[in-house]
Amino acid sequence: MFEGLTQKFQQIFDRLGRRGVLTEADVDAALREIRLALLEADVHYTVVRDFLARVRERAVGAEVLRSLTPAQQVVKIVYEELVKTLGSPAPLHLAGSPPHGVMLVGLQGSGKTTTAAKLALRMRKAGQRPLLVAADVYRPAAIDQLELLGKQLNIPVYREGPEANPVDIARRAMRFARDHGHTLVILDTAGRLHIDEEMMAELEAIRAAIRPEEILLVVDAMTGQDAVRAAEAFHRRLSLTGLILTKLDGDARGGAAISIRAVTGVPIKFIGVGEKPDQLEPFQPERLASRILGMGDVLALIERAQEAVEAEKAAEMARKLSRAEFTLEDFREQLRMLRKMGPLSQLLELLPGYGQMARMLSPEEADRQFKRIEAIINSMTPEERRNPEILNASRKRRIARGSGTTVQEVNQLLNEFRQLQRLMKQMKAGRGGFPFPFFR
Ligand code: GDP
Repeated sequence: MFEGLTQKFQQIFDRLGRRGVLTEADVDAALREIRLALLEADVHYTVVRDFLARVRERAVGAEVLRSLTPAQQVVKIVYEELVKTLGSPAPLHLAGSPPHGVMLVGLQGSGKTTTAAKLALRMRKAGQRPLLVAADVYRPAAIDQLELLGKQLNIPVYREGPEANPVDIARRAMRFARDHGHTLVILDTAGRLHIDEEMMAELEAIRAAIRPEEILLVVDAMTGQDAVRAAEAFHRRLSLTGLILTKLDGDARGGAAISIRAVTGVPIKFIGVGEKPDQLEPFQPERLASRILGMGDVLALIERAQEAVEAEKAAEMARKLSRAEFTLEDFREQLRMLRKMGPLSQLLELLPGYGQMARMLSPEEADRQFKRIEAIINSMTPEERRNPEILNASRKRRIARGSGTTVQEVNQLLNEFRQLQRLMKQMKAGRGGFPFPFFR
């Protein structure tokens, strides 16, 4: 997968790694090479531009992690930004009552029919009772192919004669599924060699007739920017709910995989990594990013670094505490760290004064409360955060207005903060470590 790109990244990182201290010029040189490598891999130029701008900004202003070498830090940032560009994992969204409709669309040869069978197999393993539907009436061979795949996997295939209209087939297939206890209908629609009006009109008509929960575009990753352009065109007409990238096992250069989400805004839901029916994987950005960078151990490395950061921050907090310098800014920092660590309601239990609240609140409500606290602290001046004693009535009114809360809520927060401060002073007595249980 992406051999050329992966090799380039490894060369770039190797060269960086041989230098002890990185200057800004070293980082710039590496970024220039990354830029070339991405463009050569057919990544969309706007995606390359945005990606590098983000990496550069972070690389320059990076906080120094003692447990990583400078080169490893650059790798870490590149990795994290690549994950962001690839988008979040996106499982199928089957919200209505069964049978759920999933419509596969795409150009001829993209791997649509194969993917329909793969998806059916995967969903059966997940407990669904799938029905495959052959709606490509223009290519009798496609219908036979689906039927053959269905037989091999022991998954029923709904088909009609070549004279039937695809919209009627789709409608009758849904009824058939309902009558026969199928929970999931996977529709293999007709593709064309190129996008044309007739195909789009037909797909729109099918969509209107069965109102599928998912409209997934199957695209061949080997076609690079063509895949991205096709996705844009399909999305404009059909409002796609997801993408399936096929043939990532082949010699795809990576351009489609890296650009397509950022350009279209449509999430990647699955990737095809071979011709066999079980070679369809749910899309996992972290996994794909570490494959692209060729760094299996990147994840472990970053995890360790993250732990080290938290330990450093905790030690710093402990130092502040022992000097009774714990401020509202530190409090906010703590809340931010907490939120990253979720699940909130459990963590809240550990916070003095919040345990009661946590038991009463749903995770969403707890999250709202946290956001509110953060908004209040954000509305204070740095001076006020360090020294809340100066908060008089008019300052409190200003803060309440700025954070969209009430003076009462501001007061409540201040009380809780004072409580916390007191508690921390008590706890630090006689102990070197950080008193908060959630830092362990
Ligand atoms: P359709 O015209 O879109 O229905 O495409 P097909 O399902 O007939 O697939 C076209 C070709 O691509 C077939 O030879 C498939 O075996 C192959 N194919 C589909 N998905 C993948 C994949 O993920 N990896 C590889 N290597 N080949 C695939």
